[in-house]
Amino acid sequence: MQNIGAYGVEIKDVFESLEAYEIAKGELKIFSHADCKFGYRESVFKRELKDQYIIVSVTFRLSKNHQINSSYGIIEEELKKNSITNPTIKDISNAVIAIRSSKLPNPKEIGNAGSFFKNPVVDLSVLEEIQANYENVPNYPAGENKVKLAAGWLIEKAGWKGKTFSTYGVHKNQALVLVNYNNTKGSDILALSDQIIADIEKKFNVTLEKEVNII
Ligand SMILES: Cc1cc2nc3c(=O)[nH]c(=O)nc-3n(C[C@H](O)[C@H](O)[C@H](O)COP(=O)(O)OP(=O)(O)OC[C@H]3O[C@@H](n4cnc5c(N)ncnc54)[C@H](O)[C@@H]3O)c2cc1C
Repeated sequence: MQNIGAYGVEIKDVFESLEAYEIAKGELKIFSHADCKFGYRESVFKRELKDQYIIVSVTFRLSKNHQINSSYGIIEEELKKNSITNPTIKDISNAVIAIRSSKLPNPKEIGNAGSFFKNPVVDLSVLEEIQANYENVPNYPAGENKVKLAAGWLIEKAGWKGKTFSTYGVHKNQALVLVNYNNTKGSDILALSDQIIADIEKKFNVTLEKEVNII
């Protein structure tokens, strides 16, 4: 129900339409690409239509003349590591799987909800302030005078990566992921996320937004 994405590709790039059941009316409705109002980790089903529809099917349109998108930094590194210069789709798939298994904890083994925070979009001036103190600040163009920063990088530089508080903490390999090692209360994880948000605001003048749904 969100515009999931990773490594430079999002579901909105291949989405055609979906069929959803309107709970109040008991009717099926077709949603076009525009109806879904996709944004970065966003859709209408996460906002104004939250909890009103059950998505029952999704139609994708895939190209027979596919374009390989391997320009995302970490994918390039993984391909280089394996001496692959002319990657096939399978090579990209293998690279993604290798990166994910090395960086992301498996929810079957360690409780987690994937990326806890969205990558923040900020004014160029905010990036320039950070660059005054740090080298190689990861950033991606996000419209006129705007850039997207890597939330994981900010959290890591603020010293949170790998921090553990008895039964929960910030994952050691991926600072964006908060982990529950053993029966932690949701309120502890939530409090930790709020502490991180406050610290990033103080250190970098950047407001992180939670990506997960808090129930
Ligand atoms: C290890 C890990 C890695 C992740 N990596 C990424 C990533 O790289 N990129 C990314 O974008 N996301 C990532 N995520 C987040 C993931 O995309 C979301 O958790 C995913 O969208 C949840 O889908 P689900 O089917 O498991 O839904 P659930 O967790 O079951 O539900 C998620 C929300 O959708 C609603 N929902 C579920 N099914 C329907 C339906 N049929 N109709 C309407 N609403 C529905 C639920 O009510 C809930 O609000 C990651 C999560 C984990 C655990």
